[in-house]
Amino acid sequence: MTASIRVCVIPGDDAAPEAMQASLRVLDCLDLPIEWDCVPPGRDLSELDLAERETLVHKQIDAADTVLFGATNGTTPGARYMRWDKLTFANVRPIQWRPGFHSPLKDPKEIDYVIVRENLEDMYVGVMGEAKDLLNAGLADARSRLPVGAEDGRFAAKIITRPGTEQVARFACELATQRNSKLTVSAKTNMLPATDRWFCEIVREVAQDYAGLECEEFIVDDMAHRLVVRPQDIDVLLLPNLYGDVLSDLGAGTIGGLGLAPSGCFGNEFAYFESAHGTAPDIAGKGIINPTATLLSAEMMLRYLNLNGAADRLNNAIGNVYLSGSVLTPDQGGNAETERFADAIIGAL
Ligand code: ATP
Repeated sequence: MTASIRVCVIPGDDAAPEAMQASLRVLDCLDLPIEWDCVPPGRDLSELDLAERETLVHKQIDAADTVLFGATNGTTPGARYMRWDKLTFANVRPIQWRPGFHSPLKDPKEIDYVIVRENLEDMYVGVMGEAKDLLNAGLADARSRLPVGAEDGRFAAKIITRPGTEQVARFACELATQRNSKLTVSAKTNMLPATDRWFCEIVREVAQDYAGLECEEFIVDDMAHRLVVRPQDIDVLLLPNLYGDVLSDLGAGTIGGLGLAPSGCFGNEFAYFESAHGTAPDIAGKGIINPTATLLSAEMMLRYLNLNGAADRLNNAIGNVYLSGSVLTPDQGGNAETERFADAIIGAL
């Protein structure tokens, strides 16, 4: 098919390029109108200094319609650029169990929800320092519960903004409306009224603009418990950045592990797609990383590019391989290498 879409592929570091290589072999079989522009894996970039690596990778990102990203340990640049420079404010992490996924839960059948994680604010703003600077600035008052020895402490700031919260809340409300479902929002509302209760209040305000949309709220510790004991009750779950990061790994655990959890990061003008997991350094070079999370992220990317037919085919092929259960990677209780698993998906296609 003639290529009309340009996708930048960033394989990343440690075991991530192994998952990406296998995934690209699968994607090649879909006859897509895509020109793939591949950045070298991190191990081949390490000769360059950081500024050279950034120039190279940022240029390729800018020239593409979207990006399929492995995971980085810091060697491969691009993650920060795509997130904070391109303002991808909504990190969408679907958590869906499918027959054959190696869930530790007795009854994972109805787990099918989406975490929307605010992606730019909260504890990730990078404002950190010596606690004495906070004290000297007069930022602690009589209501503060300062630990003994605070002068010898450190702090990290949590910043929530109204525009940032409204923006991601609208995104989550749209998604809940599309899925014909309710919106759940969660944060540490009881202990952190200034930031977390405010976050939930703003989300509720925004949800009122969506006629008939139910909006429920849970404290985040209760939410963690519910995601294990009653995950089938959740459909779209909106969380501030840090809780979203933590609870999406918990959600991945309930369906069978990090190897199964895809994600997409969406801004107003740009989106990119990456597995929810990291670089899996402990299994790098062994050829056993599960590429399912990367493939499901690629499926999300195909839908973003309006290639829904190809996305459906890929989804069905993945579903069939898990349903048959004869060729699975070790994290799913099988003994297949990454490439043999990819061969099985290609066979199913
Ligand atoms: P990060 O902080 O960058 O998100 P992390 O600390 O969460 O990374 P991961 O790289 O996600 O760490 O790995 C956590 C564990 O899960 C490791 O034991 C890793 O081998 C395993 N793991 C992660 N992804 C996969 C995968 N796709 N297939 C098999 N195992 C995986």
